[in-house]
Amino acid sequence: MDGVVEVVREATRRRSFAVISHPDAGKSTLTEALALHAKVISEAGAVHGKSGRQGVVSDWMEMERARGISITSAALQFSYRDTVINLLDTPGHADFSEDTYRVLSAVDSAVMLLDAAKGLEPQTLKLFDVCRHRGIPVITFINKWDRPGREALELCDEIVERIGLQPMPLTWPVGSAGHFRGVADLSDGSFVRYHRTVGGATAATEERLDAETAQAAEGAEWAQAVEESELLAASGGEFVPERFFEATATPVLFGAAVLNFGVRHLLDLLVDLAPAPAPRADADGDIRPLDAEFSAFVFKVQTGMDPAHRDQVAFARVCSGMFERGMVVTNATTKKPFATKYVQQVFGQKRSTVDIAYPGDVIGLVNASALRVGDTLYSGKPAVRFPGLPSFAPAFFAVARPADLSRAKQFRKGVEQLSSEGVVQLLRSDLRGDAAPVFAAVGPMQFEVAAHRLEHEFSSPVRLDRLSYSAVRRLGDSRQRNLVDSGRRSEVLTRSDGTELALFEDEMSMRILLRQHPELELEPLVATGQ
Ligand code: GDP
Repeated sequence: MDGVVEVVREATRRRSFAVISHPDAGKSTLTEALALHAKVISEAGAVHGKSGRQGVVSDWMEMERARGISITSAALQFSYRDTVINLLDTPGHADFSEDTYRVLSAVDSAVMLLDAAKGLEPQTLKLFDVCRHRGIPVITFINKWDRPGREALELCDEIVERIGLQPMPLTWPVGSAGHFRGVADLSDGSFVRYHRTVGGATAATEERLDAETAQAAEGAEWAQAVEESELLAASGGEFVPERFFEATATPVLFGAAVLNFGVRHLLDLLVDLAPAPAPRADADGDIRPLDAEFSAFVFKVQTGMDPAHRDQVAFARVCSGMFERGMVVTNATTKKPFATKYVQQVFGQKRSTVDIAYPGDVIGLVNASALRVGDTLYSGKPAVRFPGLPSFAPAFFAVARPADLSRAKQFRKGVEQLSSEGVVQLLRSDLRGDAAPVFAAVGPMQFEVAAHRLEHEFSSPVRLDRLSYSAVRRLGDSRQRNLVDSGRRSEVLTRSDGTELALFEDEMSMRILLRQHPELELEPLVATGQ
């Protein structure tokens, strides 16, 4: 077949997405359930190494092993209805870091997973902010409907009120949370009744009944489901696909991942509605067509996953063309060739070799010590470079100093390196001077990773002194710097990308300063740089 036609055809049948959720909402369970319904191409299994479950724990660093969690993320690939689905893992631990957010630069859509009893939780909100910022279309899956929880209408109201996204339910639960009977399929008014299988170990059996039969079988619960869903449809919740693509509304499904209820519906929705990989704009704003020669960008680098080899795997998302193992590609940053002899798909500990990949796929490049987060790889001419990876609003700050002053040079080199890789953000100010840069992070675990790498890779142990700032804004006008610096519990630091960050001990001290200086221009900070 003509290679160009094949690339477009292959891209069109791909869906690359991530699940955004708060820990314990059921992401691992949902991942397993999706894998159960679909045919896993590369690797499945539990995502986290949680007790009682056969875990796929990556053990790339001692601290990760000690905590029994997975810091790093990769992708699971499976096929369903002739579609290749790439599920990119977003680590869900409370200490999550910028890596989690960066995964969202490599997906075309996201599934927002909510616990029916809890609704929108802090980490979901943070991740949703990034989706909004990037215009990523979001599908909502309300999970754990088999357990007592909140009202379906109340959960939908919360979505509109707190994140301004219009819910467009495609199914509606029959039976309140805890008495889950099945769902009304709002596309045709039929009833999908679920039957439990022992422990949800196999795909749940479904039975489709027409509305009349449903009314006879479920009585009041069916009537209530119809009434509630009509109420929502009448108040702007009718399904309009365009509103999903423009990320102003979210299709909503109800289910119970642990019982496999509603999971098939989610897969069908991903295939039928979620966007396929689209041509990407490069750093100059030029669109690189899908059928241009191979190009990809590195969105995550994982060091020493295999302690025996301390290798480095760079994960790249393919943006155009066909990738073939063994290809020699160019690194747009260094202009140096990179031989792709060892290319793998990695999910947790399991790896399999990749021979061919298309736009939307994630490839893990092994022995990739020359690759950095944000690098572009391409083959042929002309050169292409995708925008650098964004920085996110940091919430944790620490002053970094070399523990051993005789290693100050290595320390500086290491700090620059970690900053360029996005391991931590680097902040400076004239006041503090260059000898004591401030590390900023989205999650405190980034500090541990940075400290570990400074000590082991750069032989320069670091002393980190945490700063007690917890509120951060972007300073709108640098002439107002002194207003913030004059505050007792605030200061302005400049990030390596030039952004001026105004840091406050807490929201209260910020509000006090704003009251004193109403002219102060402070802007919210989500993501910058891309
Ligand atoms: P994660 O932290 O988001 O990956 O959450 P897990 O998948 O580990 O799930 C957290 C807990 O919720 C586990 O005990 C799961 O068994 C449970 N769980 C997940 N989905 C469901 C569900 O649909 N119903 C019920 N009752 N429990 C669920």
